[in-house]
Parts: sequence; C-alpha cells; structure tokens
Amino acid sequence: MNKLLTACLALLLCSTSWAAATITIVNGDPPGVGFNDPAPVAPVGGNAGTTLGAQRLNAFQAAASKWGATLDSSVPIRVLATWDALPCSDTAAVLGSAGALEVFADFPGAPQANAWFGKAETNKLIGVDADPEVPDIRARFNVNLGQPGCFTGSPFYLGLDNNHGPHTDLVTVLLHEFAHGLGFQTYTDDETGELLAGVPSIWDYFLLDTTTGKVWKDMSDAERAASAIKSGKLVWNGVQVTNAAQIVLQPGTPILTVLTPASVAGVYQVGTAAFGPPLGSPGLTGEVMPVVDTPPDLGLACAPLSAVNALAVRGKIALVDRGACTFVVKSRNVQDAGAIGLIVADNVAGAPPSGIGGSDPGIHIPVVRITLEDGQALKRVIARRSRSHSGLFANLGVNLAVRAGTDPLGRVLMYAPRPNQPGSSVSHYDTSATPNQLMEPAINADLTHEVKPPFDLTYPLLKDIGW
Ligand SMILES: [Zn+2]
Repeated sequence: MNKLLTACLALLLCSTSWAAATITIVNGDPPGVGFNDPAPVAPVGGNAGTTLGAQRLNAFQAAASKWGATLDSSVPIRVLATWDALPCSDTAAVLGSAGALEVFADFPGAPQANAWFGKAETNKLIGVDADPEVPDIRARFNVNLGQPGCFTGSPFYLGLDNNHGPHTDLVTVLLHEFAHGLGFQTYTDDETGELLAGVPSIWDYFLLDTTTGKVWKDMSDAERAASAIKSGKLVWNGVQVTNAAQIVLQPGTPILTVLTPASVAGVYQVGTAAFGPPLGSPGLTGEVMPVVDTPPDLGLACAPLSAVNALAVRGKIALVDRGACTFVVKSRNVQDAGAIGLIVADNVAGAPPSGIGGSDPGIHIPVVRITLEDGQALKRVIARRSRSHSGLFANLGVNLAVRAGTDPLGRVLMYAPRPNQPGSSVSHYDTSATPNQLMEPAINADLTHEVKPPFDLTYPLLKDIGW
C-alpha cells in the first residue's frame, strides 16, 4: 500500500497529460552481446545505427513507438529484453518469445472480477505501477538467426521500412511479441487446461468453443484441453474483434462442402494450393472418385493413371493420398486423366490441413488438401461404388458469406491445431485469416507494420480485454 501511494504521488508530480503510452526497453544483455554487440554494420532501411547492437535497439524503439502510439496508459511500460540462443535449425526457428512478467487479479477497478490481467494492463487500469521493482514484459529474441545451422545466411532484417525481401523482419516480430506481453495470451495451460493458481485469465472469458457453447472460464480442465484442439471451432467472442473483422478480413472462406450422401454431408476445412486456379464462387461441383494404385487402399497418383483409374476420375473430382511424390506431380497426373479437380487426403494426422506448396503454370484444375481423418471418413462411404460412380457429390469453392478466418457467425477463429502446440495454441489467431494477421502463430512475409483496422485485429482484441 505504501508503495502504491509513493508511486501515485510521483506520477501526479511528473505527469500532466497522456495521449498514448510510453514503452521503454530495458537492455538485459551482458557486455558484447545482443544489444551490446559492437560489430560494425552499414545503415539499412532507415536504421542509422552503426553497430549490430545499436541497430537492434533502434528496431526495438520503432516497435515500442508503434505500440506506444496505439495504446493509452499513464504508466510507462517497461520491456526487459535480451538476445538469447533460442531453439533453431535451418528449417524452423523460434524467432522470439514474450509474455507478462507478473499477473494480477481482483485489484481495485478491475473490469472483471476473478480474472488475471498482465502487469502492463493492470498498471494502466489502476493508474500506477503495481510493482515498480519488476518490469512489465519479458522478451527474448534469437541471437543466432542467420548463423550456421540457424536459418544460415538469413538474419533478421533490421531496417525500419519493412523492405525485408526474403529475410525475417525484426520490427514485425517485435510488434507480435510485444502484443503477447501486453496481454495477447492466456495464462491458463493450453495443453492441460489447468488455470493459473485456480483463477481464469481475462482471455478465458472470451475464448468460446462453438461445439459446446461454453467459454474457457466455465469449463473443466479436461474440457479446456479438448477444446484447445478443435480447429475451426474455437473462436474469440469479443465485440471489438468481431466488429473489426468485418472490415479487416476478406469475404470468402475456401471450403469443401459435401452434398451427398447425407451421412457425411457438411463442410470440411481445406488447405489451398499455391498453384492452379484459386477456389471461386459458386465453385466447382462434381462427383468424387478415388484413385487406387497402391495396396491396400491408397491412391498416390505419382505415375500416369492406369486405364481403370483414368476411367474413374474422368470428369470427376479425384481423391488421392499425400505422399511419395510432390503435389504438383499428383495434380498433373489426374489432370492428364481428365479429372476436373483434386482433393489430396493428408497422410499424417492433424488439423487444420496445411496449404499446398509447389508451382506449375500448366495446372488448371483446383487442388486442395483435407485432413487424414476427413479423407478416411470420405473413403469409408465410397468403399462400395461402381467403376465410374461413387454417389459422393461435393463442391470445392469459396463461401462468400463467411469471412476468411471467421466462423459462420462472424467470430474470429483462434489457433487450435491438433495436436496441441504448447505456447502457440489458443493464444494466436487461426492461420486461415486473410489477409494474414500479425498474431498468427507463424510470421508471414506480407505483414504490414500495422496493429489495428483496417489492416489488423491485434489492437481490437486488446480493447476487448480492457485496454
Ligand atoms: Zn506468438
């Protein structure tokens, strides 16, 4: 209490008016490392620092300024930052991580009782630093990026102008990680469903499982753990985000709609292909026929189709299995046999289905990927069929009534992959959001440096939780 009063007095004496927030970087690196790396560098993209360390700090200041201009708080936000050796290889890297250093619940003026708030937001809401001894946010960034064995030769782009080319834009990564630290995260265990000290996070008041109609705060641990892997069924139920989605996200979700038979009718998530025509509206409707070329019951389509398989898929949407050759090769082979579309069933369990990479300007049929589980379900109902008919009719298309990254009611989907990805699940937007969003779990090259509409949904979520 004494501490609070002292801080309050100091604040009243020192501040007049605040239109935004001040974010300061606390350099936690030892001499010669990270922010203190003395290696000389050339200016890049508006970053005039003359050492590697200075340029890193300038990029941090740029991201801090962006968030500072967006948020409103009378209490300076302090980010304790270091450059560390984070998990890394040449194909995958943890770029950075960040979170609140402390959380608080049931403080005077809390907008929601029985809910954890991150320290930076707590400070904003009570108007003083709730614990002046401790910074608000802890952030770590990958010091080895670009070194041998860690995205070799592709370090962070340290320019401030987002002109990163093939490299990873540090300012974008910082904007993302600072958002986590500001409160874009749950403090509940996304794998076990266990609450932190028995109290739900403010996040858990908005995280809704559309299959049960329950929000996370009202669930048991087991229910939370189960809903964390319901890809496509876990949404953010907050008015700021839902309203903003109407201007930020594009109309139209790529989807597979099974029309008949009734036992499997419904919508299925798809991963779309980087080649071939994009899915459109009203889309492509046809009968689905499997290719079977590999015992016991697989269709890999890695070689030109046999006469029997060609007869089966001619004028139909072909169904094949992932594996043994590229998606482009499979697409070529079914297209050459006369198929009008291609569904590739994944060969490893998990959801949502990933996108399909590859390039071939000669492919003119739409191609999508579905999950292993969905592929098996569809195959089961067409196990009995004639040589040229299955009775399974489907549409490959875009549902213009549903924005890319929302559920049919317009609520934004949260990242809920199966299997769970601890630390990533639940505390990000789903990867189906289009255009790509800052708070998806993996960085995309086309992100802007914006954190609010009409570009981005990060700030609306912070407003939902009380910022
Ligand atoms: Zn993240």
